[in-house]
Amino acid sequence: MDTNGQIAALLRDFAAVQKSKASMWGYKRAASAILSLEQPIDTLLNPDGTLQKIPNIGPSSTRIILEVLQTGASPTIERAVAGSGQQSDVERRRGLRSHSLSRAQVLDALRNSTLTGPRVEDYRGDLQMHSTWSDGSQTLADIVETGINLGYAFCAVTDHSYGLKIAGGVSMAELAEQHKEIDALNKQHRGRFRLLKGIEANIRADGSVDMEPNELAQLEIVVAAPHSVLRSPEDQTVRMITAVSAPGVHILGHPRGRMIGSRPGVSADWDRVFDAARRSNVAIEIDGDPSRQDLDYDLARRAVAAGCLFALDSDAHSTGELPRYAQTAIAHARLAGVPTDRVVNCWPLKQLLQWAATRQR
Ligand SMILES: [Zn+2]
Repeated sequence: MDTNGQIAALLRDFAAVQKSKASMWGYKRAASAILSLEQPIDTLLNPDGTLQKIPNIGPSSTRIILEVLQTGASPTIERAVAGSGQQSDVERRRGLRSHSLSRAQVLDALRNSTLTGPRVEDYRGDLQMHSTWSDGSQTLADIVETGINLGYAFCAVTDHSYGLKIAGGVSMAELAEQHKEIDALNKQHRGRFRLLKGIEANIRADGSVDMEPNELAQLEIVVAAPHSVLRSPEDQTVRMITAVSAPGVHILGHPRGRMIGSRPGVSADWDRVFDAARRSNVAIEIDGDPSRQDLDYDLARRAVAAGCLFALDSDAHSTGELPRYAQTAIAHARLAGVPTDRVVNCWPLKQLLQWAATRQR
């Protein structure tokens, strides 16, 4: 039972039916604070039944938290939702939160020694992240420094491709400049850490990737990910099979493109997509951004059964997100029972590069 997740979801529902912007943001902030707590919230109860002070949790959120801890539900929120005229929208959003983990649950899965999947110690490097070259706030030097401090052997910087202008996609000329900077950093840290030249290419609606084969060949790691048609109930199996079959693609990034509580993402026959990915030797990503968690452990189990390789990535846009988001991905992999030897992030760099080279033909 994930009480933190349950309370955060209720606070989100409450935020959605607020009339004032200020109170909407207040409850959203409270929900985020609960989701990022490292311990189950009931451990923060004082002996007299009051709640310890938690940053960003005000008095009215505290009353709701206590209500849930005492009764298992929040009549206050249910009444507000029922009276808001937005009940069906709230119900729809409730259906879009399946198999998401709170921070406390992530840490629990990492500690749980009965789970057999990859451990944090097995994780040698992160293969999806963004820098100041596209929409990230971390420089390449920040990434290298953070990677080294985390004990990683490598990271791949995967800024958005030029097709995705809205996310600051990098042109091929900018990419050439970025590669010079990467070469200089790698020279500096030779034998210790390697920053890989990557890209997050966009999967178009027809399943093609928005870069030319000769452009993809200039990159060491190509993550291909969907960023459009993410709310349609129409089947997109063909789109996703086309994407994982494209030469030069290494990783199917955030495969559904879902956003927890707001966007369902691509609808497809995932068993067929996973089967095609296995045949192409393309890794299926578990994206550890807490608002994505895509794949989640439930769907990841089906990719395990299909025999897929996995990439467990942070999709971080800042250095603070790098370790935490990667841990979210590792937690899902552990809950799904992903074998460690099928996680490309846990391979030695040499093995990773050999695999990557096989996808370039
Ligand atoms: Zn993306």
